[in-house]
Amino acid sequence: MTTTMPDKKSQALELAAENQALRTRMAYLLEQAERNHNIMMRHQAFDLEIVGAGTFPELVGTIFRTLPIISELEAVTLTLIDEGGDINTVMGKLGVNFSEFPDLIFVEEVDALGFDLGRRNAYSPTPKPLLGMYDAAKHGHAFPRPPDGLQSVALVPLLRNKRIIGSLNLGSVDPTRFTPSLGTDFIEHMASIIAICLENVISNEMLKYIGLTDSLTGVYNRRYMDRRLLEEISRARRQAYDISFMYIDIDHFKRVNDTVGHQGGDEVLREVAQRIKAELRLSDALARFGGEEFVVLLINADLDSAAFVAERIRAGIAASMIHVSPSVRVSITASLGVACLDRSDLSVTPETAAMELIAQADSALYQAKDSGRNRVLTYRPGD
Ligand code: GH3
Ligand code: MG
Ligand code: MG
Repeated sequence: MTTTMPDKKSQALELAAENQALRTRMAYLLEQAERNHNIMMRHQAFDLEIVGAGTFPELVGTIFRTLPIISELEAVTLTLIDEGGDINTVMGKLGVNFSEFPDLIFVEEVDALGFDLGRRNAYSPTPKPLLGMYDAAKHGHAFPRPPDGLQSVALVPLLRNKRIIGSLNLGSVDPTRFTPSLGTDFIEHMASIIAICLENVISNEMLKYIGLTDSLTGVYNRRYMDRRLLEEISRARRQAYDISFMYIDIDHFKRVNDTVGHQGGDEVLREVAQRIKAELRLSDALARFGGEEFVVLLINADLDSAAFVAERIRAGIAASMIHVSPSVRVSITASLGVACLDRSDLSVTPETAAMELIAQADSALYQAKDSGRNRVLTYRPGD
């Protein structure tokens, strides 16, 4: 009997040890599960935030700000394909300041992303993420500002309907973070959500842009100017500075159309828009109000300085003949009316103030036409 006792004892000890090991293992698994749960929750919150982003700057700002933190990464950059520079142009026009996003990279073609594209075609086959040790020669294009000690990277293609729109570039100082053997389901899923959001805001911004510009000349349209005018009137009143408004109407444009045809007339409109623009500051806004009428809103300009700019515009339009086609050239003149916002009566609503300002510039234009065309007239209250 006594001989079995040590056996029983050791059995019990073994069981206890096993129990302890299981407990430890359990605790470890629980900890892992909790950690994964936390990561998932953070990513879910991130997904919700980027899905809710309404504008391009909001979206890329959120990605650059949040993703490095929730994913514990030292580098997150984005490369976007922008053939012909359309995205850049439109975002620039909408006031996006790209210097705020030094980790946003634009490339002209899909080849510049560095993915293995098989038949070198943007549509097939679907490229896989590139994972491995950071190599400046190979990955430098994706990390314009590589953090100190960057070790491993993942370049993840951003795909929309099997088309590559760019790449999401992740970098870590941990050499084991991105290895070629790592499963890529998670980062591919993350990239797919980012790609959808990017495509969404980019097309929204494009639509916004199209809705605010004149398709013939590329300058703003009436809708934009009406809205901008209200904003600028409120700001000018608050901060007490002058704004002026200018009406520009091409002289005898019917005759131009009659002599060079409607398409020739369209070419004249494009060139006149360019000549007006050449005389303006970045803060001024130029719009085509309709037909052969343009308007300019000048920020921080009193009547005299606005008249000075108007005179330069008049001279620029009349200065040289416009090439309508290689063999056809026409001489153009324009008449201009200028008015300055009256800030004396703040009880007038911005809407009424805008209407009055436009009407005053229009009446000055009418006088310019009446007194012989190819001239600038200003509206002076009480005249
Ligand atoms: P005025 O010196 O008095 O301004 O004479 P005008 O001939 O310019 O007068 P009006 O404003 O009445 O005529 C404008 C003409 O502009 C009428 C129309 O045929 C032409 N027009 C309007 N929109 C367009 C356009 O988009 N393209 C072209 N080619 N012509 C246009
Ligand atoms: Mg007209
Ligand atoms: Mg005219």
